[in-house]
Amino acid sequence: MTTRTPISYFTAEGARCVSYVTTADFVTVSLISRTSVDMQKRSPFQSEAEMDVPLALHSDNAEDVATSSSFRHFRIKHFNLDLSVDFDQRKLRSTETLELKCLQDSQSELCLDVHPSLELHEVAYSTDNDSAEWLKAEFSTKEFTSYGMTLVVKFPSPWKTEDEFRLSIKYVATDGPGVCWLEPGQTAGKIKPYVFTQGQAVLNRSLFPCFDTPAVKSTYSASVQVPDGFTAVMSATKWEHRKADNTFLFSMEQPIPSYLVALAVGDLVSAEVGPRTRVWTEPCLLQAAQKEYDGVIEEFLVVGERLFGPYVWGRYDVLFMPPSFPFGGMENPCLTFVTPCLLAGDRSLADVIVHEICHSWFGNLVTNASWGDFWLNEGFTMYAQRRICKELYGEAYTSLEAATGRALLRQHMDNTGEDHPLNKLRLKIEPGVDPDDTYNETPYEKGFCFVSYLAHLTGDQSRFDAFLKAYVDKFKFCSVVAEDALEFYLDYFPDLKEKEVHKIKGLEFDSWLNVSGWPPYLPDLSPGQSLMKPAQQLADMWAAQCLDMAAINTVDVRQWKTYQTIYFLDNILKRSPLPRGATEKLEEQYPHIVQSNNAELRLRWAQIVLQNQHEPGYQHVRDFLNSQGKQKYTLPVYRAMWNTSEGTKALATEIFSHTSHQLHINVRNYVRKILT
Ligand SMILES: [Zn+2]
Repeated sequence: MTTRTPISYFTAEGARCVSYVTTADFVTVSLISRTSVDMQKRSPFQSEAEMDVPLALHSDNAEDVATSSSFRHFRIKHFNLDLSVDFDQRKLRSTETLELKCLQDSQSELCLDVHPSLELHEVAYSTDNDSAEWLKAEFSTKEFTSYGMTLVVKFPSPWKTEDEFRLSIKYVATDGPGVCWLEPGQTAGKIKPYVFTQGQAVLNRSLFPCFDTPAVKSTYSASVQVPDGFTAVMSATKWEHRKADNTFLFSMEQPIPSYLVALAVGDLVSAEVGPRTRVWTEPCLLQAAQKEYDGVIEEFLVVGERLFGPYVWGRYDVLFMPPSFPFGGMENPCLTFVTPCLLAGDRSLADVIVHEICHSWFGNLVTNASWGDFWLNEGFTMYAQRRICKELYGEAYTSLEAATGRALLRQHMDNTGEDHPLNKLRLKIEPGVDPDDTYNETPYEKGFCFVSYLAHLTGDQSRFDAFLKAYVDKFKFCSVVAEDALEFYLDYFPDLKEKEVHKIKGLEFDSWLNVSGWPPYLPDLSPGQSLMKPAQQLADMWAAQCLDMAAINTVDVRQWKTYQTIYFLDNILKRSPLPRGATEKLEEQYPHIVQSNNAELRLRWAQIVLQNQHEPGYQHVRDFLNSQGKQKYTLPVYRAMWNTSEGTKALATEIFSHTSHQLHINVRNYVRKILT
């Protein structure tokens, strides 16, 4: 997932409504030959035998305090969701059918993660795969944590190892934290309602009963009946549209963890932008999305495949979400969900897509087995993202972007103090703590530093590239902990193992994982200096007591790449408050920055306005927070308002009272915490 990144939001008012290029029906044509029966089957790429002979991994015994399910006692081989969407009542009526296998003798209870927002109606089981004979099962729920509870299903006699059976659960998913219902006013088109789900980290238990842990994976299928005029999309390798009852049929043929199951239903249309890629959006954003990404994404995929191995998910589609989507992107397999802020109009923010594409290998294929090892998903993905960017855009640009990331880590560690327990790569998540509440920069940027260090130790980029490919191949479709990854690294490089590189004083792998603080190794970003230096010098000029406008005028900022401008604004922010009068002049001097549609620039300008208490700019802050609800942008701006002055505090309260209903519930709650 990323909440970071460059972007510019294409406001609903600014968007031109266009007649769309293709509709769901178009896709139906190409997939019509596949039957829904077909879609329930296992992946053709994976035999049952393959799935039943897992590698012996450290992750096999890893603890996950965020689940109360019996994921070590049973295996979910496959599950099917039969859903119908009711916008009026904000309900997803569902029957879930799980194909289960018992892994340990004497199991007379099965526990699944659920959420109080699920209305559970009936549970039944069947031991015969083909017959329709279902026996009712006794079930109850039990308290677990603030973010979930346990569904306990009792069986009249215990299951034995290797026993297989099916379980059917009739339930209704309502307004849970993972199921986001939007009023028409919260969408870009403002005409029809919308619903989308967000599974990461532990939210999918409010969409369906599951083993809500990244430690285990299964295939799934779904049928989703929607009202006329709506289209459903899911993170699935196959889909078709059954027009007779407006039902969309999906199948994910590769095993995935529960958090990667994702659904969106709205007024959705799509257009091809590459041989295996289409963009999905509300009709009014389609043209912008198509223009921004036509022909771009395939290039990223091709470089990714060259570096990390085959792309196993078939299609790579992108769904542009309504403005209230709280993240930059969510790497739902086959169908990345991204913020509409990515429609910058100038292709400057495509690196978010590169990030999400890299999750196709790091995160979705090789997955952290618990949220305490989130750096395995995000640190490797940051490395992979910058590896692709280096190939495509060169080292100077990539180093500059990485410097922006490093600045975010610096900011985070300054805010929390370096010794904060969140600043370890491996987090010890205590029972009861919501993994989402531990979200911060460390797994991304300190994780990037650690993976860069592992690369540095090999002494050669091509050696490390080969390792990454081997790592993906070794652990594909598995969930791993740090020990699995690091042991494999040392085995892959016997020369390094012999040198005991994992024990170098101060740089022990163990310290990397378990000691809080600033990364003990920083990759060399000096190739970015050619772009960073002019930006720093210009910021120095603006911070001088006497502004030398003649000198300032000689710097042509319009020629700069987006990240160079971002870096400049970050440096202005560091030097703020600026001397009296300088913020006004800055605003006058760079209208293209102040009025930019690029959300990364808008964020920085809002922060500069607040830190300098530049009241004429408060409208910019209002507009920015009203136009999007991305967590990464929203929280820092509220923090800045709350910590600056009484005036900016009042502004925070005013803006929140007008926009809180547009925000995702998690973001709304985080803002509430800031404002108390
Ligand atoms: Zn990510």
